[in-house]
Amino acid sequence: MKLNEVQLSLVDKQIKRLIQTDSYYGKMYKEAGFTGISSQEEFEKIPFSSKADLRNAYPLGIQAVPDEEVVRIHSSSGTTGKPVIIPYTAKDVDDWAIMFARCYETAGITKKDRIQITPGYGLWTAGIGFQAGCEKLGAMAVPMGPGNTDKQLQMMVDLKSTVITATSSYALLLAEEINKRGLKDQIHLKKGIFGSERWSEKMREYIHRELGVELYDIYGLTEIYGPGIGINCPEQRGMHYWDDYIYIEIIDPKTGEVLPDGEEGEIVITTLVKEGAPLIRFRTHDISRIIPGECVCGRKYPRLDIIKGRSDDMFKVHGVNMFPSQVEEILGLVDGVSSEYNINIAHDDTKNRDVILVTVEAEGRVDFEQTGNKIKELFKSKMSVTPKITVVPIGTLPRTEKKAKRIIDHREN
Ligand code: ZN
Repeated sequence: MKLNEVQLSLVDKQIKRLIQTDSYYGKMYKEAGFTGISSQEEFEKIPFSSKADLRNAYPLGIQAVPDEEVVRIHSSSGTTGKPVIIPYTAKDVDDWAIMFARCYETAGITKKDRIQITPGYGLWTAGIGFQAGCEKLGAMAVPMGPGNTDKQLQMMVDLKSTVITATSSYALLLAEEINKRGLKDQIHLKKGIFGSERWSEKMREYIHRELGVELYDIYGLTEIYGPGIGINCPEQRGMHYWDDYIYIEIIDPKTGEVLPDGEEGEIVITTLVKEGAPLIRFRTHDISRIIPGECVCGRKYPRLDIIKGRSDDMFKVHGVNMFPSQVEEILGLVDGVSSEYNINIAHDDTKNRDVILVTVEAEGRVDFEQTGNKIKELFKSKMSVTPKITVVPIGTLPRTEKKAKRIIDHREN
């Protein structure tokens, strides 16, 4: 999808403003001789930006406005190295809330709803984004933050929360607790808004069934405002994203080539009106595609398909590229297996080959050995690898309120 006239002029304006500043990108674009852009071709000559840049610019090197205009910072926790700090102006904070409110509206949420917010508040963008969007919409926020399951369930029952927002792993934990405590009849939830990690069909079905909610995937990342830049509509055919605030390209993660609509690759985002820390052609490492054509819901906002995985979650065994989503698909085909799993990968030096150990949970009613063999066969036929499989009882693997780490790679590289 090419930049439209308005987007093109917004990016041009952004570059012209950036090179007037001493910010990290201002200096970089000035040195590279950029003075603005007037066409798609010129735009595509601008180098990609990345999380590595933001780390280099730590703590506030990317700030593109004077100090007195910054009203808040957020930070994304990197798994490696320094964190990334993103400064926001008052307008950035407000724009984000507007986008977030639009997400809620797209999911059919109204002022009459009560939104229980379980993502964390603080340095990262989750909780406060859900909160600001809720207040902008005019709904009632129940600002719980993560953890304290007893209190969560008490509030959910007593306040009759109608919307739950959570990471998918925490939603799973809550669903399991509600089931265990027999609270299902006292829950008034209608919709669930889940973000920040890929999740399997199986997990979705379980949460849908046990919490009795319609599921919505919200998209976003701290570097680009936070969650709230896109969400699926009730038609559930991809996530609409707000192209008056961001421009999205899909690229080949290896070559950087821009791919046509419909093809799968890495999502690259350009902010159109961000003041504190504008980002041009930022590589997200999320893998998806732009869904061509208009949605049957009639909304004109373009759509991204569900996030398939992260280009850096991609793991390689015996030279084969794999995504956790493929593992989830396989487990979804096996009766009695839960959506929880982990994969340990190591290298056997004596045989000079990779060893892959998959641990899955199964219900007591199924035969663990047969289940393990079935999974092994599926790995062989669908992914061309033969893992060792360990089947453990449901509830054995750790549940987490944060993103679950499922791939544990012990190889040195
Ligand atoms: Zn739609």
